[in-house]
Amino acid sequence: MKRIYLDHAATTPVRPEVVQAMLPYFTDIFGNPSSIHSYGQEARAAVDEARIRVAELIGARSEEIVFTSGGTEADNYALKGIAYANGHKGNHIITTAVEHHAVTEACEFLEKRGFKVTYLPVDRYGLVDPQDVKRAITDKTILISVMHASNEVGTIEPMDEIGKIAREAGVYLHSDAVQTVGHIPVNVDELKMDLLSISAHKFYGPKGVGALYVRKGTRLTPLMHGGGQEEKRRAGTENVPGIVGFGRAVELAHQEMGEEAKRLSGLRDRLIKGLEERIGDIRLNGHPAKRLPNNINVSVECAEGESMLLNLDLEGICASTGSACCSSSLEPSHALLALGLSPEQAHGSLRFSLGRENTEQDVERVLEVLPGIVAKLRAMSPLWKSIR
Ligand code: PLP
Repeated sequence: MKRIYLDHAATTPVRPEVVQAMLPYFTDIFGNPSSIHSYGQEARAAVDEARIRVAELIGARSEEIVFTSGGTEADNYALKGIAYANGHKGNHIITTAVEHHAVTEACEFLEKRGFKVTYLPVDRYGLVDPQDVKRAITDKTILISVMHASNEVGTIEPMDEIGKIAREAGVYLHSDAVQTVGHIPVNVDELKMDLLSISAHKFYGPKGVGALYVRKGTRLTPLMHGGGQEEKRRAGTENVPGIVGFGRAVELAHQEMGEEAKRLSGLRDRLIKGLEERIGDIRLNGHPAKRLPNNINVSVECAEGESMLLNLDLEGICASTGSACCSSSLEPSHALLALGLSPEQAHGSLRFSLGRENTEQDVERVLEVLPGIVAKLRAMSPLWKSIR
């Protein structure tokens, strides 16, 4: 059975071109970039080149890019780094109710250490109101952190407006752009960003590598202490093959993302329309227009997300649900609840995230298979019987 992967928001396959670029850095060019001999210098040159590529993609300067172990570390570094370095100026952070756990958990960690965090609500599409951001700013606010686009429902936030507000108030602005960089244009100057998190494995690069963009002059306390790598901003021998792969993935994204976004949004809209027509009693989660080109998130009435997922998996279709499995308990996603969904609607959600390998045939296959799965699950649901 041909498997269809529709979970690119979770991770993407590493492109063969990226693997090819990485390979020599495991074996022949294995030097430590901090070594002054030629092996070290070759590795250093490769890291520097990747840094230039990452910077170019987001309109930054190369010295403003700090390589990290991925999006989680970049988010933690932004939040804790700003908090530790600027705690003397204020102890207030503004974020939203829909952030990735890497941001919310870092905020909760800081709350336990005396920081105050405002979690802004979102509307039913998942949009933050920039005026809410403005109203939440106090003379103690040191950081605003708003994700560029939701990993769950795909809604793209009005970062340019939020950026203007942050800049006028003289407050640092961070954005978790893990789901947007490499997919849609992101420019740190246009968006007036001070800090921006990136992860390579979301756009066909390797896992375990990413970056934090840090605008020149931003005061940030490092999380890692040790060697002087990354201009003393992130100690530890660089993940050279990972960084090289990251750089190559960035280069490919830079060349191809415009066309690819167009293609994917066509497939996305077709899938949404098909699901609405063929299933009925479903709700599209997230904004209908201001959304990532590859994201489809729907709540299906009287069908449980996990059950749909398992049944799809049996048919070779790999998607994801909006319910985040939190260790032992199965909690409905905080982000979906923040959009105003009931716990039942959140539990009945399904996310498809498209990628490079997906075709119209894949979309057709989902549309062929899912209505039957939903009908079967609804037939077993006492609630469905009672409302029909
Ligand atoms: N932020 C967002 C919005 C994400 O989707 C993810 C990945 O799931 C992360 C952060 C974490 O990135 P990483 O897996 O590179 O740590």
